[in-house]
Amino acid sequence: MQILRGPGGLVIAAGIGALLSCALLAYAFSWRVRGAIQNRIAHADAVWGVVIAGAAAACLICLAVLAIAATSGTWTTRPTAYLGLLVLVFISAIPVVLVEFGLRPGAAADTAPVRATQGPEASRLLVVSAHPDDLELACGGTVARLAAQGSHVKVLVMSSGTVGGDPAARRREAVAGAAVLGVHDVTVLDFADTRLADHSRELIEAIEAVAVAFRPTVVLTHSEHDQHQDHHAVNRAVVRACRQAPTILGFESPSATRAFNPSVFVDIDGFLDLKVRAVASHVDQAGKPYMTAARVRGVAAFRGTQAKRVHAEGFEPVRYTTSLQEASL
Ligand SMILES: [Zn+2]
Repeated sequence: MQILRGPGGLVIAAGIGALLSCALLAYAFSWRVRGAIQNRIAHADAVWGVVIAGAAAACLICLAVLAIAATSGTWTTRPTAYLGLLVLVFISAIPVVLVEFGLRPGAAADTAPVRATQGPEASRLLVVSAHPDDLELACGGTVARLAAQGSHVKVLVMSSGTVGGDPAARRREAVAGAAVLGVHDVTVLDFADTRLADHSRELIEAIEAVAVAFRPTVVLTHSEHDQHQDHHAVNRAVVRACRQAPTILGFESPSATRAFNPSVFVDIDGFLDLKVRAVASHVDQAGKPYMTAARVRGVAAFRGTQAKRVHAEGFEPVRYTTSLQEASL
């Protein structure tokens, strides 16, 4: 403790405080929020970016003041300086607390009608799709339901859909559509639209990087029974990249072939309106026949009939791991 009373004590403490603050802020900037910040078009994510930037700025100001005080020797009230360091670390910890407890801005937006406890079977859900709008059309109800139940949902879109529309608008609408479903962790990559199969190795590497960091318990992606070449390429890449995931389910895009034959169904009653709203977020694609509310509701009713429910979404399992008591997908 003697060194803390000496002239160099404050400098050492300031250094430790700076390191700790940097570590906390680095964590807050980590993969759990990076996607949302990169796509900060959505209002909620912009607010979240401001929170982090504000905390970082506060830390820098504190550090500068402490450094001047420590080196000039003019700051004689050393306890006040140590208190300042404590404040610095506390401010740095705020974004971390917000991330860990899901309190970041917008996390509670579009609250779905059911909010149950977090189920272990879907505590980390990764959705990998080829284009903006694939998620909303194929599994929007399931994603909304799991997000409402407290699962951490991460979305990875491999291309911005340049061939099928305006890439800037589609990127923006991917974030907006996910937000309607209660999901704010969306990353849109820039693989060449309609040519994903030409980059299968890079696809696998990009998805694997996310899978290794995120460790999803459930992965939703395109079915192998899909006539769109990009959807098929993403299916192949996910099966390889997510080889450690206990559950991988293939979802039903409008381009699914007649061979698509689901054996896992998710009851989405109560979440269908959110799904319809999310699909409607894709204004750029509004002219496509499968984007209509009637078509979306019709598919949900058909799969619901098969599942002995009112509305459902169907999935083809690559593998499906569950304990029967917690089969709450
Ligand atoms: Zn697609």
